[in-house]
Amino acid sequence: MYDIIIIGGGIAGLTAGMYAMRAGMKTLMFEKLFAGGQITTTYAIENYPGFVDPIDGPEFAMLLEKHARKFGLEILYEEVKNIEVEGEIKKVITDNKEYETRTIILAMGANPKTLGLDKEEKFRGRGVSYCATCDGTFYKDRVTAVVGGGDTALEDAFFLGQYASKVYLIHRRDEFRGSKILQDRVLGHEKVEVLWDTVVESITGEEEVEGITVRNLKEDRVYSLPLDGFFVAIGNRPNNSLVDGKLDMSPDGFILTDDTMETSVPGIFAVGDLRHKTVLQIVTAASDGAVGTLSAQRYIMENFEE
Ligand code: NAP
Repeated sequence: MYDIIIIGGGIAGLTAGMYAMRAGMKTLMFEKLFAGGQITTTYAIENYPGFVDPIDGPEFAMLLEKHARKFGLEILYEEVKNIEVEGEIKKVITDNKEYETRTIILAMGANPKTLGLDKEEKFRGRGVSYCATCDGTFYKDRVTAVVGGGDTALEDAFFLGQYASKVYLIHRRDEFRGSKILQDRVLGHEKVEVLWDTVVESITGEEEVEGITVRNLKEDRVYSLPLDGFFVAIGNRPNNSLVDGKLDMSPDGFILTDDTMETSVPGIFAVGDLRHKTVLQIVTAASDGAVGTLSAQRYIMENFEE
């Protein structure tokens, strides 16, 4: 019997794990791929308190995993297939085994949204990418485009600007959603051209991306852009399939919690990008992880200990 089972090994999950081990809770973490989650696709982190010099995402993830393991966190690299959330004792089920636990911390994060264009899936890895920091270096001296107007799209455009000969930044409105400091980096960048009020209508090419067709919404003008790389950065979709129908969620599928991270089911907590909240940053993911564990600890004291 575990005190806490954490599902997902991103920033929020690893922080929850580190706190749980320090608190002496019997804890197990499941991660289906590799620790770090979305942060492993981040190029430079320069807004985490205390890291004065930028640190790259994979290195940051490695340090966090090391930190959690230093206190003895056990991580199983296995996919969780089902969970049973009702009752005093919860169950976490994989293909191999059923695990019993007093609390569960959900930290499965989110994945990039797609535009839903024809050929978008077919050309994934052949010119279509959801991760500029992973694939950007393949586009040295080539023409690229980024779709989106949030922090991710702005960061991606800046990152690609170091390699590509040209970066079109395509946004559906006339104003970015992303932060001022990132806007300043791309507006006026010699290689970045912003296409305002513009949507992508199709991807062209036979075997790989050769271009896109875009529509300027204000002028109602459709035109083609020859391209080598097409980067989609339009936000995230929560990885909620494990808990679909079991917990209260927002209309777009993010798990609703109170400010202790507890979900609509007692003893089940949700942390990080999977949870409905307004600020998705590394520092808030870490904060969620800490709060989630301390709340799970309090729940165990109140419900299981005399
Ligand atoms: P986001 O903030 O949700 O922005 C998504 C962008 O894509 C918006 O500009 C949106 O347009 C656009 N968009 C959404 N659906 C679209 C569609 N179907 N077609 C065309 N455009 C579409 O997502 P994000 O940039 O990935 O950021 C997610 C969170 O992570 C945010 O909280 C962000 O602050 C955080 N983040 C922080 C950093 C950092 O601090 N360094 C870096 C990356 C991400 P509208 O604006 O018109 O809605």
